[in-house]
Amino acid sequence: MDDTVLVINCGSSSLKVALFDADMNKLGSGLAERLGNSDAFAGLSGEPERIPLANGASHKDALEALIEAFRQRNLLNAQPAAIGHRVVHGGERFREAARVTDDVIAAIEQCASLAPLHNPVNLAGIDAISDLFPDVPQVVVFDTAFHQTLPEYAYRYALPDRFYQQWGVRRYGFHGTSHSFMATESARRLGKPPESTSIISAHLGNGCSITAIREGASVDTSMGLTPLEGLVMGTRSGDVDPGLFDFLGSKGISADEVHRILNHESGLLGISGQTNDMRSLCELAEQGHRASALAIEVFCFRLARYIGAMMASLAHLDALVFTGGIGENSALVRHKTLSHLSLPGFYVDRDLNQNHGRASDGRIDSGNSRFAILVIPTDEELVIAKAARAKATSEPHH
Ligand code: AMP
Repeated sequence: MDDTVLVINCGSSSLKVALFDADMNKLGSGLAERLGNSDAFAGLSGEPERIPLANGASHKDALEALIEAFRQRNLLNAQPAAIGHRVVHGGERFREAARVTDDVIAAIEQCASLAPLHNPVNLAGIDAISDLFPDVPQVVVFDTAFHQTLPEYAYRYALPDRFYQQWGVRRYGFHGTSHSFMATESARRLGKPPESTSIISAHLGNGCSITAIREGASVDTSMGLTPLEGLVMGTRSGDVDPGLFDFLGSKGISADEVHRILNHESGLLGISGQTNDMRSLCELAEQGHRASALAIEVFCFRLARYIGAMMASLAHLDALVFTGGIGENSALVRHKTLSHLSLPGFYVDRDLNQNHGRASDGRIDSGNSRFAILVIPTDEELVIAKAARAKATSEPHH
């Protein structure tokens, strides 16, 4: 064994890996895409060459190829000391990361009805690693776990009670690793203990969610039973009127089609008719493309409404935090969003907002703002690596 930690994130047809050393520096990372298809491929970050994969390569084939690539570059010499897996849904069972055991695997299988596209492939990753490194401790880190502190009035829907009792229909929330990282990192930057720091954390990437964190604990979040609820996203609609379903049904659109449209053809892509990519939308809007400009406006207004809504869960607010590809990089989105929020007292400094990368603490609020506003790069792989190492050492292998 060496002292590295390997992090694995399996998607339905993709796989991401990252390797960390004992001091939690990233040694390397890689990606495989189009798994199961004839044109599957893999590659290491920062290297243009593709690693060849067989026709229809599986998650395990891709993992083997990427691990071999780490070995050839002497990044991984023996076996890793621990392996961390991102798992999407931990249901009500998991409030924190867990060491992989037969019992934990069975519980992840049980949660699969809540995340049918994700939990089974996450389990495929665990299976593959069990074959490749049978002696290495594995740890699962759940997207939902951080939100298990939501009070019942925040996680229950106003639906017949039996749906919750029989099928677990409730708000679970996602992006938990990113939001929990925002909680600790913003507390560190503000010089406060995390357990007395309250923030609103906006994770804006291809998927988007916002969380109210009261004294270190998640107390409300915008994603629900599935990652479709809440904010406008790249291709997901976020909130819609539930009356939409029978309206579209009356137009002959089936439930399967509604699912596909709301998940893959809506959001920024749906409104703009052009792209789900915020950077491209900003360029199109600049060139005068009206629908792209509208997509940005709808995105920012929905986000501003949710920032207001999150305040209902807090007794005080230390900071509003932006993260994710859009949150970290789009000064325009931050500016437009905050321009809706002068009543509660959010004011952004124009120069700091443009050049936040140069401000070491990430603060972008102006002198007259009632609340601090921060831009913090997220690092979910690092959170998973740290959790994996901590769990692997605190719960020794039997
Ligand atoms: P993520 O899923 O966190 O990688 O975020 C992806 C999103 O971030 C995409 O919509 C990108 O267009 C967006 N993004 C990345 N860089 C920028 C940028 N400079 N300006 C606006 N959006 C950006």
